[in-house]
Amino acid sequence: MLVVMSHVATAEDVERVCAAIKAMGYTPAPMPGAQRTAVGLVGNDGRVDDSLIAELPGVAQVIHVSKPYKQVSREWRPEHTIVTIAPGVSFGGTDVPVIAGPCSVETEAQILESARAVKAAGGVGLRGGAFKPRSSPYSFQGLGKQGLALLALAKAETGLAIVTEAMDDEGAHLVAEVADCIQIGARNMQNYSLLKTVGRIGKPVLLKRGMAATIQDLLLSAEYVLSEGNPHVILCERGLRSFDSTSRNLFDLTAIPVVHQLSHLPIVADPSHGTGRRDKVTPMARAAVAAGADGLLIEMHPHPEQALSDGAQSLNIPQFDELMVQLRRVAAAVDRFISTPSAAGK
Ligand code: PEP
Ligand code: MN
Repeated sequence: MLVVMSHVATAEDVERVCAAIKAMGYTPAPMPGAQRTAVGLVGNDGRVDDSLIAELPGVAQVIHVSKPYKQVSREWRPEHTIVTIAPGVSFGGTDVPVIAGPCSVETEAQILESARAVKAAGGVGLRGGAFKPRSSPYSFQGLGKQGLALLALAKAETGLAIVTEAMDDEGAHLVAEVADCIQIGARNMQNYSLLKTVGRIGKPVLLKRGMAATIQDLLLSAEYVLSEGNPHVILCERGLRSFDSTSRNLFDLTAIPVVHQLSHLPIVADPSHGTGRRDKVTPMARAAVAAGADGLLIEMHPHPEQALSDGAQSLNIPQFDELMVQLRRVAAAVDRFISTPSAAGK
């Protein structure tokens, strides 16, 4: 439930509404706005009787949120949420930041070469997993803490924002020390204890859609993070498991406008995992920007043929350079801008 206060409501009126919500056994979440304040009611699992609240002075309207997810819904917050992960790197506005880098952090030379190439081409963030969720226990599992140290080195040199995955609670605290944004991978989208942990840590979170998750599942997972008091959530479409083996996943572009309709949170696209094939990444990245994606996550490797994970879907450096040129044109056609490193980082 959302209590919209009148534009002439006083601070005491807002306080009285909060007290009434507390007296009913729920948690009030006041949200001051440019025109008027709204007070959300958190903690209910079903329709709440609004009769006492609707009559309080200063209350203009009571809106019942009809969706199972509340704080992430458009009903709760009609305007877009802008999530800033580092100075000049914001998702959800007119800028479309591109975060790129290898699937995994492998060596110092590899991550530094990647970071320099991302920055030179106009990317504003560096991705790269230190903790890798691999389908097989015998595949490369990531460099762990050493990988995080290498990401810190790349950030110190280039000023790029760092996005890297956490797979468990302990890893989330380690990742939070280095990363500007904590990635929750597709396989952990429904790891609710991890979602609560990153909710409490409070750093921006990039939440990837599970490979068999509905959009409602994705939004409910985001709700876990917001319900712990962390509003800085960026959603990510990365493709779904399908019956067709032509591509690794079925990249659900429709998720972008659907999420924009249902939620105020930004959504970025990952056409690398979405397609699994290097030659399909550029066309689908263009399509994602045209569809309204609020950012892109791209796998790029200086030597994809030597990559320890996801080489087949990683662009090489010249391909990434060309992608950035093309994305600028597509973004301009839909009144967006590919963020530039001059506005971000060093
Ligand atoms: C990744 O970003 O490298 C990754 C493991 O992605 P996903 O969780 O989408 O499979
Ligand atoms: Mn990968």
